[in-house]
Amino acid sequence: MLEPAPKDTLQVVFLDVGQGDSALVVFPNGKTMLIDGGETDQGRRLVQKLQQLGVKQIDWLVATHPHSDHIGGLIQVLKSLPVLEIWDIAMPFESPVYRDFLLAARAAKTPDGKRPAFRKVRSGLKLQPVPNISVSVLAPREPLLSGTRSDPNNNSIVMRIDAPGGSLLFTGDIEREGRQRLYDARANLGTDVLKVSHHGAANGTDKAFLNRVNPRVAVISVGAGNRYGHPHKETLALLQGKRVYRTDLQGDIIMRLGADKKLQVATTRSTPARQSADEKTTRPPLTSAVVGSRNSKVYHTPECSQLPKPENQVRFRSAQEAEKAGYRPHACVEGE
Ligand SMILES: [Zn+2]
Ligand SMILES: [Zn+2]
Repeated sequence: MLEPAPKDTLQVVFLDVGQGDSALVVFPNGKTMLIDGGETDQGRRLVQKLQQLGVKQIDWLVATHPHSDHIGGLIQVLKSLPVLEIWDIAMPFESPVYRDFLLAARAAKTPDGKRPAFRKVRSGLKLQPVPNISVSVLAPREPLLSGTRSDPNNNSIVMRIDAPGGSLLFTGDIEREGRQRLYDARANLGTDVLKVSHHGAANGTDKAFLNRVNPRVAVISVGAGNRYGHPHKETLALLQGKRVYRTDLQGDIIMRLGADKKLQVATTRSTPARQSADEKTTRPPLTSAVVGSRNSKVYHTPECSQLPKPENQVRFRSAQEAEKAGYRPHACVEGE
């Protein structure tokens, strides 16, 4: 059941938005931070859930990076609820969803009818919503990373929340290069709760990172039966021995951090009997059709915004078929 947070508690709800990310933070004084919002088609459901949670306005609306599985649902939120401040990495990114997000951001309203502040977020930004709780942005840093497997992923906003009841680390979709940058910056990564990066993809987590974070609890925000095979079995193996929560199995995950240092966790769906980290995850075969580019020998999902010109397109029945023909996946295939 989703209910408003009790007073004087830090409540964080990892919202089940299918294949995507969304987390609502409610500070003990009632101020709210929404971190990502899943795909566009999740927007209405997301707004309903926020209303069930008693949210009347969003104080900080955070877009960790411009991929559709993070910003899509935020568009409906911007249209439905007053928003005080919008956080974005402001990296040049061409996509219809990001364009719609920016338009919705421009048209959004604060509770007194003004335009919300649009903040280009970089590491070093610190916020103290209540005297004993801080929000610290650890990434991205100038200049933004470029030339990585996925620059939007690697430039995700990474932030930690430190409260008397515990700490949380939000990682967006950072991959190897993004992690390396956190190490170079000597960021303090040790936290109680880790939002596992990139929906549990193998490129979002490694042993060295988990050693640094050393979380008691890990949360994977992921859709059931997604075509990327998230979470990858390598990630689940690394998380063995931790308390792992997954939105595909448990629905919305509600965490309350009280001053007594106790971390309470509830979920809207009951935990299936076989939910341990060594559970066999069946990776669904990538059987959906893909589109190859004759020139670059790269293949894309049919929905990719960077499809080759029609005359250069080659159709394959599946990713496997494309790879057999010597094509490699575009960033869109690994999952946003
Ligand atoms: Zn993502
Ligand atoms: Zn992404």
